Amino acid sequence: MNAEIIAVGSELLLGQITNSNARFLSNHLAELGINVYYHTVVGDNSERLKNSIEIAENRADLIIFTGGLGPTKDDLTKETIARHLGTTLAMDEEALESIVAFFERAGRFMTENNKKQALVLKDSEVLINNHGMAPGMLYKTDSHFYMLLPGPPKEMEPMFQFEGKPKLAKILNKEDVILSHVLRFYGIGEAELEDRLQDILDNQTNPTIAPLASDGEVTLRITAKTNTEKEAWELINGAKSQILDNVGQYLYGYDDDSLASKAVELLKEQTKTISAAESLTAGLFQSELASVSGASAVLAGGVITYNEDMKIKHLGLAPELLKEYGVVSEQAALAMAEAVRQKFNTDISVSLTGAAGPDAHGDQPAGTVWIGIATEEGTTAYRLQLSGMRNTNRLRAVKLALSYVIRTLIDGNARKI
Ligand code: ATP
Ligand code: MG
Repeated sequence: MNAEIIAVGSELLLGQITNSNARFLSNHLAELGINVYYHTVVGDNSERLKNSIEIAENRADLIIFTGGLGPTKDDLTKETIARHLGTTLAMDEEALESIVAFFERAGRFMTENNKKQALVLKDSEVLINNHGMAPGMLYKTDSHFYMLLPGPPKEMEPMFQFEGKPKLAKILNKEDVILSHVLRFYGIGEAELEDRLQDILDNQTNPTIAPLASDGEVTLRITAKTNTEKEAWELINGAKSQILDNVGQYLYGYDDDSLASKAVELLKEQTKTISAAESLTAGLFQSELASVSGASAVLAGGVITYNEDMKIKHLGLAPELLKEYGVVSEQAALAMAEAVRQKFNTDISVSLTGAAGPDAHGDQPAGTVWIGIATEEGTTAYRLQLSGMRNTNRLRAVKLALSYVIRTLIDGNARKI
């Protein structure tokens, strides 16, 4: 089955919002083994939407629409589709009841145009909206499937996940089991990972193996499609052991793991605590750790010492050291990590200092980052030369610092990766 996603909304074309719905849907459709060949974005204009539908019908079996199901005049997706398909809209009583109840609960007056949201394509399957008012729809003709979803991601995402996706899975093949398993790597670039797995990637059919890189980590999604769950896992595990034979040393986790969650998990296991002294990242490192539930068991806290004076005042760094080596230096990173470890009395501590860019910091070019890691065994600092934009560099520095923490906890030292 091939799919096209049509996102409806002039705000998308005006650059006011990003088409994150297409990204979300493509991700989930890939899991179902549905090929997405086109993403289309069209404004709130009936004529142009109709043209887009005609084009999509020539190249896709399944067309998924997002947006334009609301109560206002510019919401015209289902009206346009109904006209195009020569069908009508009918009031869905259940949806109407839930809209009335929504207004009652909120103690708000319901205007007449809100009723419009309960109109659905005649003979369509209704997809319940548990997070908003407008229901979604799945409509079938002899040649195509049309799925209509609301625009707001907080309504669209659960609707697709819990209503739309299972219906598509059922249509595809009742017996098919599709399972995905994600392997997460760090300390290796996408190109190198692909290079090392060349043979495996070239010869993949079932399971399929899809690499994806983002900010300092690379993932491989292994997807198997077969008749039983047991067989699917056998296929996945076969591919997994081949992959890990080649690049196992870079693996840090699976599926929903993140570098932060892995670091928290290891710290918990080892009953260790962590602190951080942040300059470059101004709290981003601690914030990333704190995004993991249960972080309070391991994260003691830290300091943001952004300017030189505060590094002296709050971390006790020697003015002479800063004068001689500068704040973006191995010496500063080492001293910051040691100072915060003592101050917060933790087992491990991290320091981040650098020139985020676009400007250089003295003689340190933009993208120069020093990360210090202190433990009771000693302190080490790592130099990175990043080449992204300012905030990409800051985020990458956090990811790399987390990977050094993980490495330190696993190996006992953060050998250079
Ligand atoms: P509503 O009932 O809120 O009007 P709707 O189904 O009519 O929902 P739209 O009016 O098209 O949807 O969009 C509502 C909001 O949803 C947009 O302002 C935007 O914030 C978000 N949205 C719409 N389309 C997308 C998209 N493709 N990706 C991400 N967000 C989107
Ligand atoms: Mg709307």
